[in-house]
Amino acid sequence: MTDSSVGFAPAALPWALILAAGSGRRLAAATGGTAKQFLRWRGVPLFWHSARAMSRSAAIGGLVFVFPASRMDAARSLLDALHRRDDLGLPWFVAQGGPRRQDSVALGLAALPGTVRHVLVHDAARPFVSPGLVRRLSAALAEGAEAVIPVLPVTDTIKRVAHGFVRQTLPRAELAAVQTPQGFALPPLRQAHARARENGLEATDDAALMEAMGHEVRAIDGEACNVKITNPDDLALLRDTAPQPETRTGMGYDVHRYATGGRPLVLGGVPIPGGPEVLAHSDGDVLLHALMDALLGCACLGDIGQHFPDKDPAFAGISSAVLLRRVLDMTRAAGVQARHADLTVVAQTPRLAPHSGAIRKNVARLLDLPAACVNIKASTEEGLGFTGRAEGIKVYAVVSAQVCPQPPGTLDTGEA
Ligand code: MG
Repeated sequence: MTDSSVGFAPAALPWALILAAGSGRRLAAATGGTAKQFLRWRGVPLFWHSARAMSRSAAIGGLVFVFPASRMDAARSLLDALHRRDDLGLPWFVAQGGPRRQDSVALGLAALPGTVRHVLVHDAARPFVSPGLVRRLSAALAEGAEAVIPVLPVTDTIKRVAHGFVRQTLPRAELAAVQTPQGFALPPLRQAHARARENGLEATDDAALMEAMGHEVRAIDGEACNVKITNPDDLALLRDTAPQPETRTGMGYDVHRYATGGRPLVLGGVPIPGGPEVLAHSDGDVLLHALMDALLGCACLGDIGQHFPDKDPAFAGISSAVLLRRVLDMTRAAGVQARHADLTVVAQTPRLAPHSGAIRKNVARLLDLPAACVNIKASTEEGLGFTGRAEGIKVYAVVSAQVCPQPPGTLDTGEA
C-alpha cells in the first residue's frame, strides 16, 4: 500500500463507511423489490463496486459496511463470499443501519476502530466512484481539512417552486450539486451527529450537519460519472450493451535435460528422429510444456506442475498432447480463448529447421488455430550455457488470448 500520495502514515489512513442500509423505495417497483444496493452489476452487488474503488485507491485503511437491520445475516454471508472470491486486502466490519440515512451514518461511525481519525462517508448507490476521487478526498483530509465534499457545477437553472408556482430563481453560479464520498475528521463529525440528535436536526448529507456546527466544509471537484442510482431510468446506466473482450498474454518457460537412455525427443507432438534423448516424467515435450504454462498464465490458473505433478504415476510417460487437451478444457472453462502462440526453441542440437513446419502445423491443430496464428522460432545460444554445451533444451512460449466478458444484461436482482 502506498500512502505517500495522500500524506497519511498507513496506520492513519481514513476509513470508509459504505452506506447500504437504504430501502430504495423509488426503485422497488423496477427491481422487483430488491434494494438497489443489492442489485448486481457485472456479477457483484452495487455496494461492492464502491468497496473496490476504496481498496484500489490505496488511500483507505479499512471499511465499515452498513446494512439494513433486517438483512444483517444475509449481508454478512454475502460479504464473506465476496471477500473469498475478490479479497479487497482491507480490514472490514459490518454495522447495522437505522431508520434514516443519518441514523445509519451514526451507527457506522460507532463501529469504527478507536484508532481511526478520519472517515469517508459514501452512499452505495454511487457505484461508479473512482479511486482517484477517493485519493483526492483523502489528500484534502491529510492537509488538515475537517470536512471535504465533491461538488459539480449545476447546469440546469434551479428555481424554488411551491404549490405549483415559482417563488424564486436561484443564482446558478453559486449552486453546486453534491456527491459522496464526503470526508471528515472523525471527532467533529461525531459531535455534529450527537448535536443533530439532541436538536432534532435532519439533513440529507453529513456536510450539512458540520455546516450547522460552524465547521468549514471544503469543496473539491466531483466527477460527472459518479452518479447516484435513484430512479428507474438510472438502471439503464447499469446495462452493458456491448461488452468488450479482454486481451490477455501468458508466458511459459520449460527446460529438459538431455540424457542417454532417456525418452526420445518430441517437440510440439512431433517426433525428432535421431535427436538427443531427454529426462522426463511425462513424454518430455518441452515445447508443449512451455505452451501449457503460457495458456495457464492467460487464465491465471497456476502452472502445469500444480495440475500434473511429476510425482504422480498417472502422468508417467503420458503424451503431452493429452495434457494440453486438459489444459485447454480448463482454460476454455475460464472463458479464455487462445488467439496466437509464439514459441522460441533454444537448443544447440538438434537442428530445428527440418522440423519446424511440421511442429507449427501440429501445434496449430492441437490449439484449434490456423497455422497462420502459430509461430515457431529457433535459436542457439552461441555455444554458451547448458544449451550451448548440448546438455539440454529450453523453450519460451508466449500466448495471446481473449477472455469472454459476461454476457450482456447481467444486471439481475439475485442476491445469492
Ligand atoms: Mg517439462
